Amino acid sequence: MNKHFHIFCCFLLSLCLSCTNSGIDVPVIAGGDVVVVGGGPAGVSAAYAAAREGAQVVLIERDGYLGGLWTGGLVLPLNASRALEKDGQARQSCTGIMGEMVSRLEGMDMIYPNEGRSGPVPDPEATKYMLQCMLEEVGVQVIYYALACDIVKKRDSIKAVIIETKGGRLAVTGKQFIDCTGDGDVFAWAGEDFDLRKYHIGAMYRVGGVPEEMKLGTRTPISGVRVMNIRSEDDQNGLDVLNNSRLQNLIRKRIWEETQDLKKKEGGENIYLLDTPAKLGIRMTRVLKGQYCLTLDDSMKWTEFPDCIGLAGRDATIEYNGTKYKWSERPIWQIPYRSLLPVKTANLLVAGRCCCFDEGLTWDAREVGTCIVTGQAAGTAAALCARENTSPGKLQVDSLRSVLRERGVRLEF
Ligand SMILES: Cc1cc2nc3c(=O)[nH]c(=O)nc-3n(C[C@H](O)[C@H](O)[C@H](O)COP(=O)(O)OP(=O)(O)OC[C@H]3O[C@@H](n4cnc5c(N)ncnc54)[C@H](O)[C@@H]3O)c2cc1C
Repeated sequence: MNKHFHIFCCFLLSLCLSCTNSGIDVPVIAGGDVVVVGGGPAGVSAAYAAAREGAQVVLIERDGYLGGLWTGGLVLPLNASRALEKDGQARQSCTGIMGEMVSRLEGMDMIYPNEGRSGPVPDPEATKYMLQCMLEEVGVQVIYYALACDIVKKRDSIKAVIIETKGGRLAVTGKQFIDCTGDGDVFAWAGEDFDLRKYHIGAMYRVGGVPEEMKLGTRTPISGVRVMNIRSEDDQNGLDVLNNSRLQNLIRKRIWEETQDLKKKEGGENIYLLDTPAKLGIRMTRVLKGQYCLTLDDSMKWTEFPDCIGLAGRDATIEYNGTKYKWSERPIWQIPYRSLLPVKTANLLVAGRCCCFDEGLTWDAREVGTCIVTGQAAGTAAALCARENTSPGKLQVDSLRSVLRERGVRLEF
């Protein structure tokens, strides 16, 4: 690999006025068969899956830990793995990498089963540790404290991701790229079309010292520790940095004040604020307009896809065609491979909360469990493409499905 990858700043830094007229070198610090951008649930799953298939994998993460909103945002309950099955029973079904993560956390005694409620709840620190161990085991190179800020694209292919670090701008090259930023940063730079969805921005936080019998928040594996959910303002643009800063201040204050109020409740004298989230609760931003838009309709009608790469379940109650459905009345649904495929970029896959699904399915498609499922499929596909020297759009879907099946992913109802 070249020591330096010559990139012209007028291309890289088209928005930076001071650098538009001369060439600069951006040193290449790493390269791989597969480059994953974002180390949330989707990104870790993608990187792990790709490395297990023999790919050399680099994962770029802007923070200093893995898990994204799952750990850093304290959005702990794994509730998207529950749904109605064809036999008429509502069940939890964690297969593939999600099943492996749940088993590992069970082995550490760090996941609260939460049966019949909102799905199993892991401990965030145990989860960060577990995710790090998984990537170390398969040899993924993780680059922390690296904000991806641009790409180098030639014709229809990405050549490198540019990262902003304390040591300056650097490049990471690769054959296949996976956008797991949650916000679709990479596909936006690549010129893909997208929807910008505005949701309520909130936050989760944890309190300790809660008496066993007290009804408060969601239980966690650590006795006396509960996770709490703050709903803030609706219809917020999660890409607006000034508004996010305003909400960050507002929410931190509210968390502190709510905790002081909890202390005044009967039995709440010993309650204390354990932690605020490292990440603001931005639910949705960009959603890819990909090769297939998975719809709420598909999910309610047991739609079968020949290119199904995994199944997902439900979180909330919804109203569908005038009827209210609880999670236990809503079918398990299939995810087609085409929902992970952009239209204009040959060597890019998208996984997690920014892959292609319609507004109606947003609540379910963005759940941690679903993100792990799409991550596993994207990582596996990218590794096969790198090995076979092909592109995600040309990959034989049957070969992808057979690897996923061998890896324990459920593909049929
Ligand atoms: C308040 C709230 C409550 C929720 N509650 C639940 C719940 O109870 N159960 C549930 O299953 N889901 C819940 N969710 C949804 C779920 O947490 C997310 O949708 C899920 O974590 C998305 O996973 P992801 O990997 O796609 O993205 P993220 O979790 O957002 O991870 C993206 C990762 O990419 C990194 N990144 C982003 N941009 C860049 C960049 N340019 N360069 C480098 N790194 C980058 C981020 O730091 C992060 O680590 C909740 C969400 C919110 C906001």
